[in-house]
Amino acid sequence: MNKLIAFSILSVLLAACATSPTDRRQVVFYSEEQMAQQGEAAYRQMQDQIPITENRNQTNYVQCVADYIIEALSDEQRNANVWEVTVFDNEQANAFALPGGKIGVYNGLLDVAVTQHQLAAVMAHEVGHVIANHSNERASQSTIRTVGVTAARIFGVSDTAIEAIDYGTQIGLFLPFNRTQESEADVVGLMLMAEAGFNPQQSITLWENMNAVGGQRPPEFLSTHPAPETRMSRLNEMMSAAQTLRRQAQSQGLNPDCVYLRR
Ligand SMILES: [Zn+2]
Repeated sequence: MNKLIAFSILSVLLAACATSPTDRRQVVFYSEEQMAQQGEAAYRQMQDQIPITENRNQTNYVQCVADYIIEALSDEQRNANVWEVTVFDNEQANAFALPGGKIGVYNGLLDVAVTQHQLAAVMAHEVGHVIANHSNERASQSTIRTVGVTAARIFGVSDTAIEAIDYGTQIGLFLPFNRTQESEADVVGLMLMAEAGFNPQQSITLWENMNAVGGQRPPEFLSTHPAPETRMSRLNEMMSAAQTLRRQAQSQGLNPDCVYLRR
């Protein structure tokens, strides 16, 4: 019986290699359904606990930018998630996207991302984390750690194994992303915003604005990010490729016109 459990865990680990959108090898061993379920549960909890904006101008504006970004995804990526956007009433300049396609924007972000292009840069970065499966990767890594530390017990008691794995999925949603993942979300996000017809050059302005407001509690996308100079030079390296994508989008009539009517 113990051997059987050990064997199952081992085969899961061996079967779990995947490839990210930038061709990086990843270990992910939760199913998309498991991750989407956890993402949705966490999202509903946040909707219960954090006030949601009642400002329709904000909701419509953020939804407009999201629609362009989601439309630019491949059919496979778009259909693999049930995309949903909520604008929270919170002064932090922050945003997130959870597995399953659950996007949250804090309205404090609208004071820092001051054009539709800059907002698109943040949201495309967050969507980049989702389509690159980063939460699954984090959850899987933390489970590997858990399995390693408590291997003896786990192999003895199957309930513990199950508990450890569920716990891994949950904390995977809230662990900060690592630098490799952040850089990858930058690349995926830059190309995605350009394919949606937004001006990729404004991602540079956005990250400059972000660094300027850094503040006491760093938002998700500042906490584990590469040094600002490294990030800017990487974005600049990819800028001409991104501009080409934008021109293609424009020639297909993609010219986002999302307007935020500030009151
Ligand atoms: Zn990020």
